[in-house]
Amino acid sequence: MAGKPRVGVLALQGDVREHLAVLTALGADARPVRRREELAAVQGLVLPGGESSVIDKLARAFGLFDPIRAAIADGMPMYGTCAGLILLADRIDGAIAGQQTFGGLDARVARNVFGSQTASFETDLDVPALGDPPVHAVFIRAPAVVEWGPDAEPLASLPDGRVVAIEQGALLGTAFHPESTGETRFHQRFLARVHARSGADAPAF
Ligand code: GLN
Repeated sequence: MAGKPRVGVLALQGDVREHLAVLTALGADARPVRRREELAAVQGLVLPGGESSVIDKLARAFGLFDPIRAAIADGMPMYGTCAGLILLADRIDGAIAGQQTFGGLDARVARNVFGSQTASFETDLDVPALGDPPVHAVFIRAPAVVEWGPDAEPLASLPDGRVVAIEQGALLGTAFHPESTGETRFHQRFLARVHARSGADAPAF
């Protein structure tokens, strides 16, 4: 890959700035994506935390829904946090009427599974794929993966067995928000995928 990897953060709603800051600090050329042309110019996409039903509606209104589905089908690396994880799931529990997802991740994700709209908590998670130290994870009105297919690989779960980090091919999702705690290893993993897909010899990450 010549120069920095060009990655986007879907910038329709949610914690876009936090993701842009992490990606930029890791050396990527990170830009907000609100239009088809902006999507076409990036090599990977982050779907931020926020409100998945709102992001879904806006993606359709902005003509981005089908292009994002096509990019997923084409193997573009994507990383979704919280609402972003919901948007990557093929099946969701607790959807509002008419709510759709981009899909691609063969999993069922349950929205707002930890209680009311205000339920938030923090915990330290072992993520064997990332090694030490454990990930300090912040959950905000978070979803969890309750079922997944043979090609999806859980990366972390809570003591009760609910999966909160998962990947499948070029897709990575976490139910929590590394972008707001200084945890950069998931973003690095995403950037490594972008890099690998570009076919360059020397990894920059
Ligand atoms: N509860 C939100 C949803 O269903 C997700 C919350 C978040 O992204 N922090 O979309």
